[in-house]
Amino acid sequence: MEWKGRRQSGNVEDRRGATGGKVVGGGIGVIVIALLVMVLGGDPMAVLSGAGQGSSVAAPAGPGIDDEGREFVSVVLADTEDVWKDLFKKMGRTYQEPILVLFGGEVESACGYANAAVGPFYCPADNKVYIDLAFYSDLKDRFGAPGDFAQAYVIAHEIGHHVQNQLGISRKVQQMKGRVSEEEYNQLSVRLELQADFYAGVWAHHAHQTKGVLEPGDLEEALQAAAAIGDDRLQKQAQGYVVPESFTHGTSEQRMRWFQKGWESGRVEDGDTFTARRL
Ligand SMILES: [Zn+2]
Repeated sequence: MEWKGRRQSGNVEDRRGATGGKVVGGGIGVIVIALLVMVLGGDPMAVLSGAGQGSSVAAPAGPGIDDEGREFVSVVLADTEDVWKDLFKKMGRTYQEPILVLFGGEVESACGYANAAVGPFYCPADNKVYIDLAFYSDLKDRFGAPGDFAQAYVIAHEIGHHVQNQLGISRKVQQMKGRVSEEEYNQLSVRLELQADFYAGVWAHHAHQTKGVLEPGDLEEALQAAAAIGDDRLQKQAQGYVVPESFTHGTSEQRMRWFQKGWESGRVEDGDTFTARRL
């Protein structure tokens, strides 16, 4: 991906190196975050199991450290601002720019308290995307999805959740919680996640069209990342078997396909995963 020397967003909040957030010792905040956050492909239970240890960790990295990582996410975030501002304008709406929070180890959000195990997430209550850049090493080493465009896809997916929040889509899904069976709610959650993948593809389409940001192999990197964090593959890795009813993000094949659909179409209205017959 061509990113060096391009515009960086001013909406990056660097909390790395902030000494250890508040110690809440688990409790309601953590449970709330497990329910509320829209994670990329992580396991909400990871937040819960990580809770209660009450350790206050000072992250080793701080502002000024790992500046290449910070520069990279700032450029990608700026690209998402440009694309979505334009697309919202065409829909007769105004795009509210989200904040991207860099954290190290653990973080406090309006959705509660989280540790890095949950993976990057979006909190609809404060319109912020949270990411610990260490996740990118995981993506490469644990999930086998290296490359800068794989990393850009991760941000574009979380921004996709912000778009859903702005369009009122996530609220509608949230409202169904408790009104439908758990299995049905998981189905809705899958549709929401696949739409965020579609929106990531829409972003890539326009970013490339207006700025030519993709280099050969970039699309494959994003698709590889989408595949790597599909529920089926994650479950198989974690427990050795797959339970489709418990999927909340979609299979690897579905995630790749919806990203690709967005990339090919570039049209927000083509991404209605909620009425799609085939997911
Ligand atoms: Zn997600």
